[in-house]
Amino acid sequence: MNTSENQIISVVFPLLLDEVYSYKVPSEWNEIELGCRVAVPLRNKTEVGFVIEISSGPGGYSGRLKQVISLIDSRSPFSNKMLKFLRWMSEYYLSPLGLVMKAALPAGMGVKKSKRVILIDRDAMKGKRFSEVMELIYKKLLRKESYSYAHLKNFIGSDGFDSAMEALLKAGAIKVEISYSGYEALSPDRSGKRDFQMEEILLTRAQAKVYSPIHGSLSGSKPKGFLLHGVTGSGKTEIYLRAARETLSNGGDVLILVPEIALTPQIAERFGQYFGDNVSVLHSAQTESARRKAWERIKRGESNVVVGTRSSIFAPLENLKLLIVDEEQEPSYKQTEPDPRYSARDAAVMRAKIEGATLLLGSATPSLESMYNAKKGRYKYIRLSERYGKAATPTLHLINSEAEKIKGGFSKAIISSLLKTKIAERLSSGEQIILLQNRRGYSPLIRCKECGHAEECPDCNVTFTYHAATNSMNCHYCGKRTAVPYKCPECGNRDLLFQGIGTQRVEKELSKLFPKVRVQRMDMDTTSSKNSHWKILNDFKKGKFDILLGTQMIAKGLDFENVTLVGIISADTGLYLPDFRASERTFQLISQVAGRAGRRKIPGEVVVQSFAPSNLPIQGIGEEEQEKFYKQIMKERKLQSYPPFGKLIVFESSSESRESAMNGAKLIHSVLKRISNGSKLLGPAPAVIEKLRKRYRWRVMILLSGTGNKRLQEMKLTLRSMMKEIRKKMQRDLRLSVDVDPVNML
Ligand SMILES: [Zn+2]
Ligand SMILES: [Zn+2]
Ligand SMILES: [Zn+2]
Repeated sequence: MNTSENQIISVVFPLLLDEVYSYKVPSEWNEIELGCRVAVPLRNKTEVGFVIEISSGPGGYSGRLKQVISLIDSRSPFSNKMLKFLRWMSEYYLSPLGLVMKAALPAGMGVKKSKRVILIDRDAMKGKRFSEVMELIYKKLLRKESYSYAHLKNFIGSDGFDSAMEALLKAGAIKVEISYSGYEALSPDRSGKRDFQMEEILLTRAQAKVYSPIHGSLSGSKPKGFLLHGVTGSGKTEIYLRAARETLSNGGDVLILVPEIALTPQIAERFGQYFGDNVSVLHSAQTESARRKAWERIKRGESNVVVGTRSSIFAPLENLKLLIVDEEQEPSYKQTEPDPRYSARDAAVMRAKIEGATLLLGSATPSLESMYNAKKGRYKYIRLSERYGKAATPTLHLINSEAEKIKGGFSKAIISSLLKTKIAERLSSGEQIILLQNRRGYSPLIRCKECGHAEECPDCNVTFTYHAATNSMNCHYCGKRTAVPYKCPECGNRDLLFQGIGTQRVEKELSKLFPKVRVQRMDMDTTSSKNSHWKILNDFKKGKFDILLGTQMIAKGLDFENVTLVGIISADTGLYLPDFRASERTFQLISQVAGRAGRRKIPGEVVVQSFAPSNLPIQGIGEEEQEKFYKQIMKERKLQSYPPFGKLIVFESSSESRESAMNGAKLIHSVLKRISNGSKLLGPAPAVIEKLRKRYRWRVMILLSGTGNKRLQEMKLTLRSMMKEIRKKMQRDLRLSVDVDPVNML
């Protein structure tokens, strides 16, 4: 490069600040790459940012620009395709590019900063006055010319250290040098084993039929997307394994996303059986160093199969040719906080497109969005309906809990007469039972019998849940725990009612009805320690207890051969949440758990208890009912132009002051109104849970009808600059966030 030319770089920062800044780069740095981190001056501080553009200009041009302080990464940690993907994510989710880039690096890849003190002039202090501390520092430096700042301070003591350093600096005796280190280039090692000469992954005829178009995509030049709709137990995993092996032997890499950390060991083990230590695991519960190590193995090309949760959508596979999203309907694929608020499932579609990879979305109960996309021809829909090595669809019994309660009291609403009989039958024949109650604690509502007052968490607008195990009231949103009052704080009455059914209450009822039965409860309260989730499922599989009772956690993971009865305690839980996806979620959960009943020869049975058994999502197990349900719910969404028919974007303003949260939302609303151009605006209104962890939250939603890409793109550009404007106007405590395609409506 001509030395009279200066390089200019554009830098973004991992901050909500959504701006690009330019800096001069010393001309001798010719190794700088897109995506590298640099330390630069920003608002009188030194900040770390990412290089997103490099240009060169004539010497005078960059005169007014500030100079880069230090280049941190010796090579870019991102491939060009990855950079393209990250830019897309930033644009689509209206999220600052710097934050997206930071999210794409493993936590263990932080920047290491070191500060050194160096003696530059031995004579600078001649004839000058020393303080005691200055003298100590000076003498130490005379012996060895440079020290790490922290080490020196530690040795001398912090008393008067900073002012002594300042005086020495002023006198020109010393200088302080700050250096950074980050990502080092990894020598490529694409030594991962690819040819797996092992027993054939045998496919049934039904599976082979489904596999044939996938094979076509993997071996052809135009990779496609598939929605694999396969009932529980139809053997989707065999399809995944087969596709992975084919991809590997073609020289490609494979990424498998799973919805929960607890499910990674199971899938990783299954893939490990075939592909050995070529398999890497990535998830947020790993230690920083484990994550970094896995990331580096993948980056080097040593590992070509990655199994991981949401954030592994950023896995640095260099030749990604197959991307699998298992249980694609799961809400956990969406990051709700902090930015970028992305959906790994939706991002997978884009990453597959950029990389030229085959995309495989798998589910027993696909999301409405994916069903819609399949219908529109965006994915090829493939159905796997035969239960692999299993008996027919289980028999369903619907129980009206209201009638049970009238007949036999509240305890019959927990375990109905029929469910009790069925449990007794299965226990006596040595079979196992799964019971679902998607609510933890003992009782989700503590209410005064006299005045109706319900105890609420003071920091959140959420009623306390009574926990029998700890005899306390817990807030399930912020974790606050407090003693149960002995009288109503409103009217002084001592008669408090514990209403509703939590898992602990079901557990107690079971022990009353079946004193000798071995029950394992599985919810967030029993699975807080590492691997406990996995251990419970494993113990159940081994037959260490008879009944597995739990929240939605029990819906997935491990196949249980010996389970022949599934009971759903209150199928309505969650059905009346103010969320347009409430019935879809209810339907999915019930279908998943119901699908666990039955084994090779003995058909399973499912007892569904509900206060509203005629509700469609509650009747939706079995293939025909599923189809009916999808049709009905699709119609409803279309009528309201809710997703997948329209695009929903939620703006939220939050503050510890209710008024300022409200004013923030009003401001957003007024700007949106100007640019909404006929799109539906909802709000400003408080969030369903208005106060959460002491902060008030107000929202404005915009529903963009139709999803025409070009118009959406224009709209988003406007929205983005609007966000910048509003953020500038807002007071400090006020936070503003934007969520594109939100999943959590509460
Ligand atoms: Zn709880
Ligand atoms: Zn009261
Ligand atoms: Zn709370």
